[in-house]
Formats: sequence, structure tokens, C-alpha cells
Amino acid sequence: MIKINIESKLQRTKINLEDFQENFWNSIKSIKFNGKKVEGGDRVYEWNDFRIDTYSITISEALRLICTNINIRNYIERVLPNKVPNNDIIDNWEQLLKYIVLLSPEKLEKASLIRANLSVEEIKTIKKVFAYDDKRDGHIIPLFINLNFRTCFYCNRNYIGKFKNMDSITRTTMSLDHFHQKGDFPLLALSLYNLIPSCDVCNSRIKGSRDNIEQYMNPYSDSYDFHEKSKFTFVNQNSIKLESSDLKCRGYIRDFYINEIYQLHNQEVMEIIEKSRIFNGKYLEYISSTTGESLENIQKYIFDVDKNEEELDLLPLAKLKVDLLNLNEG
Ligand SMILES: [Zn+2]
Repeated sequence: MIKINIESKLQRTKINLEDFQENFWNSIKSIKFNGKKVEGGDRVYEWNDFRIDTYSITISEALRLICTNINIRNYIERVLPNKVPNNDIIDNWEQLLKYIVLLSPEKLEKASLIRANLSVEEIKTIKKVFAYDDKRDGHIIPLFINLNFRTCFYCNRNYIGKFKNMDSITRTTMSLDHFHQKGDFPLLALSLYNLIPSCDVCNSRIKGSRDNIEQYMNPYSDSYDFHEKSKFTFVNQNSIKLESSDLKCRGYIRDFYINEIYQLHNQEVMEIIEKSRIFNGKYLEYISSTTGESLENIQKYIFDVDKNEEELDLLPLAKLKVDLLNLNEG
């Protein structure tokens, strides 16, 4: 529902987008897998049925190994034409992995259109390299936490963020949802722009019921225009509905139960109506002139919302409030 702009989030930190992507890639690159010692062999190990001669291997080496399976190699080549190396030079395999990890939202979408014609075992083999759950806490979540996302990008209702527990260990209420689901597209499970900061409700309870996510728009995409295409409006005096002229947005609203869930917020809707009645345009101007605060700031403090689209994730129900306030202002 809310557009994700990492660049604007990074403005509050000292790193730029390229550095953030590089940090993300370095974190993935540093992942290692441990092998099992082969009985009777001297310094011979096994990882996922592949013989290896060191105790642990990097994730790039693991990718190279699974591509010795011709079906897996062909599948990855179909997804990423001319990207799979024809040699064992590990730098080249690192480049392939980096390419997969930093695929743009548009390239992710293209990749998701190619179905893997692989056996269950072969899919499992890909999943072992791109196993998100094992890498989540150590390699992925910490980078996202520093971006200070505030509310779920799917529902804009629940806060997502970090806190420290009694042992000063950073914990988080943020989930990362796979836009292209990792069960169906394991190759894309560690790709930065496939990971949507969200709440647990949207990521697990609601997620179970949706199966056509590729029919929605990726909120990282530059062309993501859900906010423009979909607006909350009044059905009657105290009931609201999110409506859209766009088919993809409508599918999203339906599958994420936005209208059903937002009925929980009738109280807030009533409050906006009442506040709009009291703090009408003239009164806001009066407060602004007597306090010296800008009109935008006065409105922000009274309605607890920032109208700037880049800031919609900062407060719960911001999309709802902005739409209703704009409606009131006609
Ligand atoms: Zn949510």
C-alpha cells in the first residue's frame, strides 16, 4: 500500500544507496556453509551431497556447486540469460550471486515469470543455498533495522521497529515478507528488493490466503503509484472504503482485506471528521498566524499525520488520514 523509498530513508543516515546495497551484498557474501566430514576420508567433506575439500564453503561456492547439476544450471540461465559462468573462477560466481541479490524490482518480476521445470529434490537444492530463514537474523534484518522503517508497508496499521531486550540485545517487531514467495521462487529469496518490511499479521496470517502476489506492484518499484491510484472515500457519514481504478490495486485491496480490516478504525475515522469540523481551514490559518507555525505543521500536530508521500510509513493510518483530509479540503 505504501511506497518504499530506501534512498529517502537513507537521508537520515550517512550512507548512500550504493553503499547500502554494497553492505547488503557484503553481508550475504560473508555467509558460509559447513560441510560434514566424510567417514574414513582424510580432510574430505560433504555439503549437500557435494564433495568439498575444505570444512566450509562460501555461498558463492555453494552456488557454483549446485550449478554442476545441469537442470539447475539451465533454469538459472533461463532466468538470467548470459549470467551463469562457464568456468570455476569464484569471482565470476560471486558476480552472479551479487547480480541475483541486487536484482531490481522490474528484473525480479521478469525472473518470477519463468517457472522452474525442476524435480522436488532440485528445488530443495536451490533452497539450501538461498535459505532465508537461516540468514535472516544474522545477515539481513540488522541492515533493514537501521533504515528506521516505522509501520508495515502493506497495511500501514502496525508499527515495525526495533527495541532492546533486558540483555541489551536488539530485537525487532519487523518481518520481511517475500514479495515473490520464497517457496515458489527460492532463487529470489535473498534478493534485496524482494524483501518487504511488514508486520507479522500481513506476513503470516494474511499471506497464507494470497497466491497471486505477482499480480500486485512491487512497492520498491519507481513506478509504484498505489497512493495516486487508490483513495479512501466515505461510503456514508462514518464508514470508509478504499477504492481504486486500477486492477492490480484492487486485487491487493481484496487479498490483504484492507477494507475489512479498516472497519476496525471507525473510531479514528469519526475523530478525523470531528477534528476537521472544529479545525476548519480558517481556524487553521488563524492558529498558524498567531503561533507562527506553518499551516503544514499545524495540520500535522492536530491530525497526527504528514501529507508528504515519502513519510506515509512514519505513522499508522497515515494513508487513510491523508486521503480523508484531502477529501475534506475538496
Ligand atoms: Zn501489516
